[in-house]
Amino acid sequence: MAADYQPVAQALAQHWPGVSLEVCDSLDSTNSELMRRARAGQVQPTLLVARQQTAGRGRLGRQWLSGTGLTDADANADGECASLTFSLGLPLAPASWSGLSLAVGVSIAASLHPDLRLKWPNDLWLHQRKLGGILIETAALDEGRQAIVGVGINLGSRDDTGLARAPAWLEELLPGVDAPQALLRMAAPLLQAIRDFELRGFAPFQSGFAQRDALMGAPLTLSDGTCGVAQGVNAEGALLLRTAVGLQAITSSEVSLRPILEPQAGIPLS
Ligand code: ATP
Repeated sequence: MAADYQPVAQALAQHWPGVSLEVCDSLDSTNSELMRRARAGQVQPTLLVARQQTAGRGRLGRQWLSGTGLTDADANADGECASLTFSLGLPLAPASWSGLSLAVGVSIAASLHPDLRLKWPNDLWLHQRKLGGILIETAALDEGRQAIVGVGINLGSRDDTGLARAPAWLEELLPGVDAPQALLRMAAPLLQAIRDFELRGFAPFQSGFAQRDALMGAPLTLSDGTCGVAQGVNAEGALLLRTAVGLQAITSSEVSLRPILEPQAGIPLS
């Protein structure tokens, strides 16, 4: 284990002895790698970190861009300190999967900084800008499912190359923070949160989400054209939207939403 990640390995050994930590120099995507392993029957609980990620994924086929956002050459030179990308793979058997990405977001925000906000269903926000994203995928096992919880966080400043809007980065809140330090804050509490979710579902995280809900009271447009005002989330993690025809609970992972923060409706925020 590389020396810089030793404290993370020690924290895991102390709190989660069954979970191994692996740090790779470069991967296409930590989620993709754990998905390949799950399909090959390798399902032992693993926290997999990529110092560089070359084909990070978001929801619905979107990209997660690591590095500085500078030219390829500069990004390769600085990319490692510019972002943290990791995935946690483990067998999980919750009664319902609904709200897991929100529970993960609550845990990460609580571990990193009180100023962080959560944009339903899977974004970490700082001051109306996107700091990080969460991508949860599952693979069917002979019994139950393997959960793969992927996280990408901007650490150092990056420009908006390739992005619809300017991003945020963690050093704005924690100057000098590096990837191992950020992971050390998050890793053990995140495992605890996922195990709590497995036993008790989203309900115990509902108030923590409400405290950090970036969309509360915001006028929104869904990708299917539905307009409304966000009213928080319910005990299953569904977004509550007050629309012209009443309160709707939005659960579909196929839905993207756009806060209307500017004069024109539907301005993309991520
Ligand atoms: P939406 O906001 O449309 O509902 P989303 O927030 O769920 O989508 P994800 O699929 O989680 O989006 O993440 C992919 C999106 O995140 C990309 O389309 C891009 O806009 C944005 N993005 C990608 N890389 C970064 C980055 N390093 N920093 C900030 N934003 C990024």
